This record gives sequence, structure tokens and C-alpha cells, in this order.
Amino acid sequence: MHLWIICLVLLWANNVQCYGSNSFGLASGEAIRIGLITDDSTDGIRQTFEHAISVVNSDLSVPLAGETEQVAFGDSMQAFSQLCRLMQNGVGAVFGPAAKHTAAHLLNACDAKDIPFIYPHLSWSPQSDGFNLHPHPEDIAHALYDIITQFEWSRFIFCYESAEYLTILDHLMTLYGIKGPVIKVMRYDLNLNGNYKSVLRRVRKSEDNRIVVVGSTEGVAEFLRQAQQVGIMNEDYTYLVGNLDLHTYELEEYKYSEANITGLRMFDPDKKEVRQLIETLQQALGESEPTNNGSSPITLAMALTYDAVRVIAETTNFLPYQPQQLNCSERHDNVQPDGSTFRNYMRSLEILEKTITGRIFFRGNIRKGFSFDVIELQTVGLVKVGTWEEGKEFQFNRPPQITNFNDNEENSLVNKTFKVLISVPNKPYASLVESINTLIGNSQYEGYGIDLIKELAEKLGFNFTFHNGGNDYGSFNKTTNMTTGMLKEIVEGHAELAITDITITSEREEAIDFSIPFMNLGIAILYLKPQKAEPALFSFMDPFSKEVWLYLGIAYLGVSLCLFVIGRLSPSEWDNPYPCIEEPEELENQFTISNSWWFATGALLQQGSEIAPKSLSTRTISAIWWFFTLIMVSSYTANLAAFLTIENPSSSIDSVEDLAENKDDVQYGAKRTGSTRNFFLTSEEEIYMKMNAYLSNNPAFLTETNQDGVDMVKAGTKFAFLMESTSIEYNTVRECNLKKIGEALDEKGYGIAMPKNWPYRDKFNNALLELQEQGVLARLKNKWWNEIGAGVCSAKGDDDGPSELRLDNLSGIYAVLIVGSLLSFVFSFSYWCLFVFKKAKFYEVPFCDALAEEFKIVVSFAENERALKSAQSVYSRSRNSSQSIESLQMDSDNDDTVPEDD
Ligand code: GLU
Repeated sequence: MHLWIICLVLLWANNVQCYGSNSFGLASGEAIRIGLITDDSTDGIRQTFEHAISVVNSDLSVPLAGETEQVAFGDSMQAFSQLCRLMQNGVGAVFGPAAKHTAAHLLNACDAKDIPFIYPHLSWSPQSDGFNLHPHPEDIAHALYDIITQFEWSRFIFCYESAEYLTILDHLMTLYGIKGPVIKVMRYDLNLNGNYKSVLRRVRKSEDNRIVVVGSTEGVAEFLRQAQQVGIMNEDYTYLVGNLDLHTYELEEYKYSEANITGLRMFDPDKKEVRQLIETLQQALGESEPTNNGSSPITLAMALTYDAVRVIAETTNFLPYQPQQLNCSERHDNVQPDGSTFRNYMRSLEILEKTITGRIFFRGNIRKGFSFDVIELQTVGLVKVGTWEEGKEFQFNRPPQITNFNDNEENSLVNKTFKVLISVPNKPYASLVESINTLIGNSQYEGYGIDLIKELAEKLGFNFTFHNGGNDYGSFNKTTNMTTGMLKEIVEGHAELAITDITITSEREEAIDFSIPFMNLGIAILYLKPQKAEPALFSFMDPFSKEVWLYLGIAYLGVSLCLFVIGRLSPSEWDNPYPCIEEPEELENQFTISNSWWFATGALLQQGSEIAPKSLSTRTISAIWWFFTLIMVSSYTANLAAFLTIENPSSSIDSVEDLAENKDDVQYGAKRTGSTRNFFLTSEEEIYMKMNAYLSNNPAFLTETNQDGVDMVKAGTKFAFLMESTSIEYNTVRECNLKKIGEALDEKGYGIAMPKNWPYRDKFNNALLELQEQGVLARLKNKWWNEIGAGVCSAKGDDDGPSELRLDNLSGIYAVLIVGSLLSFVFSFSYWCLFVFKKAKFYEVPFCDALAEEFKIVVSFAENERALKSAQSVYSRSRNSSQSIESLQMDSDNDDTVPEDD
């Protein structure tokens, strides 16, 4: 049917052309009016329209005259009244606005009047949107299908802005049929106050990281911008943009995000027609020079407007067209006489050149035969990686030099020279080389940071010059957008790198970038080691705790008493005081109270006492006591040696809590401009807030450098310095009276500072990782911390000296003593009972009487002599009363010899 119409039209047109000179002649001189009703606020469409008319007019005998009407987006009534105005002027064709409903309204009106209606946006309905040069959603879907197949995606998310973009999904599904990837469909809606973050958060939480996004030019641009804010613009995510305007976006921010962004473009930004149009736009709109990195300010709508003007021009070349003035309100007979013919002729043309979007021809109402550049965002900009041509096989050939970022010449570091900021002097990171010769340039400096840059330069091939960046490493103030110190130098482009003990902080990361950390650390306290205390008067008591001394005294008294009692209980200890008298009247016990005490004292002091225990029980308790004293004295002697040389702590801070309380009047400070100070400034923990208030109230304790802080600690004025553990370690190895107190308050790292989105950051990170894996970082740390200038106090160790022996350490020996004493009591009591029993038997007196008698003798502690047989004695009444008791005493400890009867 369409073909028939086209054939008829062509025949008619050829006829017309035969007589064309006439009718053309009639019309010559009178321009053909073309109307543009635009809702584009940027003025780009209008400028393009006018530019296109001026370009085509140079080829035309009957020129085109453009008339533009600006309307508000979506205001159909305003647009309609403008259309009526154009009709009254005799318009030959009308370019419609972007707003879908307004365009549909105008299309109906134009159709009723047979005026060609040109719509340079995504078609919402192929049957009824007039003359549309925009690729049909089916072809866009086909291109996306081919790319997704090339990428071998097995699942992805399809994000669309509004319902008309669902036609793309529809065609995509048709292409896949029942087999195909898993497609999750999500809508991001510009009507939701332009806030897509909830949708993007859902994308982030889903397992999918491949996203096809379709929508309007502004909608997709905002989608990508918010994707970056939500944190899904990184190497884990791949975006396929299906709106044909990716090349117009501000992509600078995404270049180094490592996210894969692929899109479609309908024209080459370097094309002559495009460049001419850009020049015109620049003159008219004062736009800046376009960047030559695959981007272009020319939107597809502008390009299609330009091309549509070209199609109209080409048509007028063949078809005489003299639009009539029409009245909007008159509905039926008042139509443009050649309007539909003109439109049909436009569709029958095939134009190969002088267009922006390439070949133009139609199959039915749908433009065909065009091609897309498949473009990909690389660090160098948008790069063409393939060509999709309608009806042909998709060609995907990513240039090899772009595949491998590391080998990309553009990003090679070889022969590049960087300014590296250091802080001098700041040992061990950088300091001036001590030399008798005058050194210049890089050779003046040495240190850990210097060596690290040299190692990196060797790996990556860059050159470097060191510059002293001062003591202030810098900070970034979000509210004023101001940077200071080294940060400022980097932000302003005066230096590329900074290496020193510069801590990676989130605040700094907002202004600059950091490499991966090359050293890990935390804030700790630097303070003086415990000092040698004045010798105390009773320092000899230090080896034992008070408890031990107390128990020793109790044991000593107890054992003396035991000896005394056991001595009295033991018959063998009752001795003949005068050995020459064979039958003594009295017996004597050597374990008087004073002798018992003296015996115990002699043993305790490792001396003798000439008192020799004779009975088993007294010997048992003596042996146990000797053993006890042996252990006690040995322990005392061993610990005393250590105590006589001990350096007792003279101060008392053991933790940050002590410091916060200014325990023992210890003051403290930190580096004024560093991340340590910032830690306290920003911390929300009560103790650190208290410390922050203290630091703020004592500006004198905020030093310019860490070295100043170390000097203040060394001065010994009860001053502690909050410092990073790595620097503390460096100082304590060299200053023997300094010590790290407590555990680190936080965990962080030092990194190499570099400009934000610096293209070489990855290379630096890779090289740093390699240095770490090869042990170079550890070697450098060891060199600058433990070798150069170290070894002064490393042997001393960090222990707190000997500690007194507590009861726990000696409880065993006390237990032995107690058990031994009890045993000897048992012995002595049993022998005593045996002795009493024998004696009672011998004198034939009742056992109880004998026991009472003997007990009286034992407990008359004032007496250490006893009569063998007194007049009042129970034994005096017995028949064996003349028998010497001595024999009983002699025998009772040894054997049960029954004394012989007289
Ligand atoms: N490393 C700190 C910084 O990056 C300096 C020293 C400190 O504050 O303790 O600012």
C-alpha cells in the first residue's frame, strides 16, 4: 500500500518536475515557511533550526524561511495557539516540541490540515507521529540486544524513566523470546522530585550490577549523577545507556570511577556538519570550546532537527510547494493543498550526505539504514568500540590499546616529572642529609618517605623533585570549601604528590586522593619512663609484701610456741640436768619459752643455737621450720638483689583515662595542625571531648611539630604528648627515658597524597602493593626505625622491674610449715599419752590420775624442771614409787620397754 503511494507520488513528482520550472518559477522568490514550535529551554534547537535553514538555503532556488515559537514545556494550549498563528502565515511544515502530549496535540491539528509534522524525538507511536527521523524503539532495542549478547550478560536490571520507554523493553523481550537473560525492571521517575535514590539503593542492594538505562537526556544524566552519589558508580557496575545522548553528558566525574559505561551515538562529533553547527552555537550561545574526547554538545534532537531541515530542502528541490495560509478554526475544506504529497515525498527520499546522522531513508514510517557508534567511557573520554548498523551484523572491536589501562600510552608515567611535597625536618620520614659538601636538589634529603618515592619511581619510571611543604599537612573545610597546607598545594596544582606522616582522613579525601596506606598506626601517649626513686628507709622489706611479712611473723611466733609446748609434751625432752647424778631428783626441759624462741630465731637467720631437739616431734617441727626458713631466706635474697636496683615509678599515668583526669598533675598536648588534634576535635566520645576541651584551653600545649612535643616530654615537666604510634616507636628507640603509655586510641594509616581523580593513582597503588608483597616496605621501616640511629636503648627492654613476692608466691611453704607443725603435735601428744600410760601402769596408779598429774606439770609453764617424785605425787602412794621415772622417759620415745620392778 505504502509502496503504491510512493510510486504514484514519484510518478507525479517526476511529471511535476517536467513542468517544475513553471510552477517553481511561479513560486520563485517566495520563501517556503517552516515553523518550529519548541519547548527546549536551552535554545539549542532553535539555533540549530536556524543554522540548518541558512545552510540548506545556499543550495536552494526557493529558500526556506524559518519561524520559531517558544512554548513552555507541556503547555499544549499555548503550543496550539502558536501553531494557528503559523498556519495563518502559511506554514509548509512544522517541527514539534519534545513534550509528548503537546506534540500529539499538534500532530492531530497538523494532520487535519495536511501540514507535514516533524518530530525529532523518540517515537511514541510509529503510525501517528508524523515525520520522525529518530530511530525507532525497535531498532534501539535491537542494538541493545546485540550489545548485551556481545557482553554475554545472563541477567541485568532495566531502568526506564517513563512508560514510552517500555516499548524498548517490549521489543527487547520479543527478541529474546522465551529464552534470555533474567531482566529485573525498575522505574525511576522524574516526577518523584527528581530523586531516584530509593530506586538506586534498591539497585545497590540487589545482586545485579549490570544496568540498562533508558530515558530522556536529562533523566538519564540525573540517573548517572545520583548513581554516583549512592555509591554504585564503580568498577563493580556496568551501565548500558540507551538514550543516544550519552555523548552530551558531563562525564569527567565518571572517567576514573572505573564503572563501565557504554552507550550509543548516532553521529561522529568530528563530522564537518557537526563542527559547523558547534561553531554557530558557540557564536550564538557563547558556549565553551567542545572537548575533543568523544563528547559533543549536540544532542540527538538537534542533529535530527538539522537533518529534517535538510530533508525538507531536498524535497523542495523536486517538489514545488507553495503553502497556503490556513485558518485553524475552519476544520474540513481548509487544508494545505500539497501537504500530504510533500510529506510522502519526504519519506520516499534517500539522502546520503550533508546530514549529521548519516543515511536517511524510510521503510514505511520508520527510518532505516542508519548506524550507531557503540561508545564506551574510558579515562581518555568516550571511545568508539563498535558499530551497529541497521540490518547488518554488529561489529564490536574495542581497540586493544584501550583494553589494558596499564599499557595505555596516555597513562604511562615514564618520563613524567612530579613535584613531591615533604616535611623537612621530620625524622624519620624526611630530613636534611648531614654532609660537609653543599648538597642541592633531591640529594639534600633522606628518610623513609624519600626512599619510598625512589622505590616507586624505579618501578613506574617517573622523575620527581622534592619540595618542602612545611609542617602543616593540611585540612579541608567543607563549608568554606577552603584547603590549607600541603592539601592546598595539591588542590591548586602546585604539586602532584605529598609523602610524609600524612594520615588518610575522610575530610582530606574530599579534597584530594590518597594511595593505599603504606603504614598503619594509631594515636598513643608518649611519656617519660618511670624514674629511679629515692632509696626508702625500709627498702629491705620490699622483696616481700606486707602480707608475707605478717604471716612470717605469725609463723615465727607460732613455731616458737609449738616448740615450747611440744618440748614439754615430749618425755625425751625432760632430761637429767646433772648427768653425773645417776638418779636425779628433778628433770629439766631444754625447750623453755626463751630457748624455743631462740632456736626459731637461729634457724630463721640461718644460724645455729646449740639447742638440739631430741624427740621425734621436736625434731619434726624443727626440720620443717628449717626447711621453711631455707625457702623464705632464699626467696628473700633472690628478690632483694633485684629490689636494690629497681627504678620505682615516680609517676602514675598508665592510660588515656589517667591523662584525661590529669592524674598526678600530668599535662598533655598534641600537634596543632595534625590529624591527632582533629581526632579529638571531631570525636563524640565523652573522654575525648573532655580532652579536646583541655587542649583547646591550653594552646601552649599544641605544638607546631611532633619534635617540639617530644622535647617538651623530655624536659620532664610532667608533660605527656599525644602522638602517632609510629612516631612514638621511632622516639622511644632513641630516647631511653621515653615510653609509650597505653594502647592506641584509633586505627588509621599513612598514604601518599595526590590530586583528586589522578589518573596514575591505580599505578601507584599497584606499585605500593608490590613493594609490600616484596617486603620492601618492611625493610624500609626497619632501616629507618631500628637501624639508623637506633640501638641506644633497645637492650633495656620495657619491663617494669621486679615486683615484691606476695603470699601467693609463698603460700606453699607456709602450708608445709603448718602441716609439719601439726604432725609434730600429733607425734608429741601420742608419745606423751603413751608415756603417761606406761607410767600409770608402772606405778600402778589409775591412768586418769597420772594424766592429771602429768598435765599439771606440762602446763606449769613457769617451771622447766620437774621433781621425779614428790611427796604429794600420786606415784608416792604406789608400790613402785622408788623406781626412777627417768628410765621411762628414756625409753618412751624409743620403745615400749616396761620399767622393771624393784
Ligand atoms: N599524621 C598527622 C597528620 O597527618 C600529623 C601528626 C599528628 O597529628 O599526630 O596530620
